[in-house]
Amino acid sequence: MPTFEYAPAPESRAVVDIASSYGLFINGEWVDGHGTTFKTVNPASEEVLADIHEGDASDVDLAVKAARTAYSRVWSRMSGADRGKYLFRIARLLQERAREFAVLESLDNGKPIKETRDVDIPLAAAHFFYHAGWADKLGHAGLGPDPQPYGVVGQVIPWNFPLLMLSWKIAPALATGNTVVLKPAETTPLTALLFAEVCQQADLPPGVVNIVTGARETGQAIVDHPDIDKIAFTGSTGVGKMIARSIAGTRKGVTLELGGKGANIVFDDAPIDQTVEGIVRGIFFNQGHVCCAGSRLLVQESIAEEVTRRLQRRLATLRVGDPLDKNTDVGAINSRAQLDKITQLSEAGEAEGAQRWDNGCPLPDKGFWFRPTVFSGVTQTHRIAQEEIFGPVLSVLTFRTPQEAVAKANNTPYGLSAGIWTDKGSRILWTADQLKAGVVWANTFNQFDPTSPFGGYKESGYGREGGRHGLAGYLKGSN
Ligand code: NAP
Ligand code: MG
Repeated sequence: MPTFEYAPAPESRAVVDIASSYGLFINGEWVDGHGTTFKTVNPASEEVLADIHEGDASDVDLAVKAARTAYSRVWSRMSGADRGKYLFRIARLLQERAREFAVLESLDNGKPIKETRDVDIPLAAAHFFYHAGWADKLGHAGLGPDPQPYGVVGQVIPWNFPLLMLSWKIAPALATGNTVVLKPAETTPLTALLFAEVCQQADLPPGVVNIVTGARETGQAIVDHPDIDKIAFTGSTGVGKMIARSIAGTRKGVTLELGGKGANIVFDDAPIDQTVEGIVRGIFFNQGHVCCAGSRLLVQESIAEEVTRRLQRRLATLRVGDPLDKNTDVGAINSRAQLDKITQLSEAGEAEGAQRWDNGCPLPDKGFWFRPTVFSGVTQTHRIAQEEIFGPVLSVLTFRTPQEAVAKANNTPYGLSAGIWTDKGSRILWTADQLKAGVVWANTFNQFDPTSPFGGYKESGYGREGGRHGLAGYLKGSN
C-alpha cells in the first residue's frame, strides 16, 4: 500500500538550552559530585548532549542529610494547604515550560515529539495538579484521620518515561509531606535536571527535592542509606528483587513497580479496525519501551489471519525516524545496550521457530533503531512469549476458547497489564475478573490518568502509584 509522503516537520530545538555539564541538585543548589562524570547522548544521532556528574555514596549522604533537615525543620511542619501551593506552582511551571521539556525529553530519550508533547509532559503536569489537590485533604482519603509521612524517601526511576516517572514519584511523596532524594536513569537525566530548575523557580524550600544523577552504584547507595525511611523503585524485576533483598530486615518501607509481559486479548467479535489501532498503541507506543505494553497478542484462532494481515498493512504506514519530526510515530531505541537486547531476543524468536516479519522501513544511518516487528506462530515456551523484550516487537499467539485465552494470559511470572477486545460487556467483565493483572483495559490500551492506581501482581511488583491507593504508599502504616 503506498504511504503518503510527508515533508519534514521538525520541532525546533532552539527552545532548549543544554549546558555542557551538570552537577547534582542538593539542598536547592548545584554542586559537583565526588565521583566521575559520564555523558548522556541523543540516541537518534549518538550526539553527546552533556557531561553528567555521577553521585557517589558521600553525595547521596549529603542529599539525604539535606532531605532530613528539610523534612524536620520545614516540610513536616508546613500545613497541607501550603504544601499544595508549591505543588500547584510546580504543575503550572511544567505547563508553561512544556515545549522545552518535550523537546529535551525527545532529545535525551529518543521518543517522538508527538508523544512527549501530547502524553509525557501533560501527564507529568497532571500528576502534580492531582496531588496538589490531595495535600490538604489527606485526612479524608480513607487512610485514617491523621496519616503520617515516612520522612525521607529514596526514589530510583528508569529511562522509558523520564519526567513522567519522576512526577509519579515526587508528586505523591511531596503531597503527603515527605522529602525526596531521586536518581534518574543514567541515559536520561536531563529532564530531571530541568525539573530541579523548576523547583528553584517555584521557590520550593531547599532540600525538599534532591536530584542525584548517576548509574547503578548511585542507586545502590540510595537503597543502602541507613537514614532513608522508604524506597520507591521503578525498573526491572531483577533489580527490584535485589532491592527487596537489600532492605529486608531494615525498617524501610518499599514500593516496587517492575516489569511486565502484558496480554492483549482479541475475541472474534471485536471491531477489527479499532482493535488494530489498539494493538499498535499497545506495543509500538514509545518504541515498546513500556512496562505495561501489550507485548503478547492473543487472538482467537478464527480471525488470527485477518488480524495479522490488517496489522501488517497498518504497520507499513508507521513512520520511523527523527524523534523531533512531528510526523514521526516510532523514534529511536534508548541505548545501544537496549538495542542489543531487543536484537538478541528477536534472533532467539527466529531460532525457536516463530515467523518474523518487519515493516521494512528505511532506518537512519546513525543512532539506535529497530523496525516495528511482528512474530507469528509463537508458542508459550518461546523466550519471546516469556521474557520482556521492551522494544517494538509483538509476539502473536492464538486461542480457541475464552478459558484458553485466560490461561495463556496468566501464564507468566508478571502481572502488570492486560487488554480485552470484544463487542460484549459481559465477556469483558468475565475476562477481567480472571486476569491476574494490576490494570486491565477494555477496547483500549495504554491509557493513563493520575486518578487511577497503577501497579502489579506477582513479579511485576507491589504497591500502587496514582489515585488514593498511591497516597497510601507514602503514608506510614497505610500500605
Ligand atoms: P533497571 O536496570 O532496573 O534500572 C532502573 C533504575 O534502577 C535505573 O535508574 C538504574 O540505574 C537503577 N539501578 C540499576 N541497578 C541498581 C541497583 N543495583 N540498585 C539500585 N538502583 C539500580 O531498569 P531499566 O532497564 O532501566 O528499565 C526498564 C525496566 O523498568 C523494565 O523492566 C520495565 O518493565 C520497568 N518499568 C516498570 C514500570 C512500572 O511502573 N511497573 C514503569 C517503567 C519501567 P541506571 O540505569 O542509571 O544504571
Ligand atoms: Mg540520553
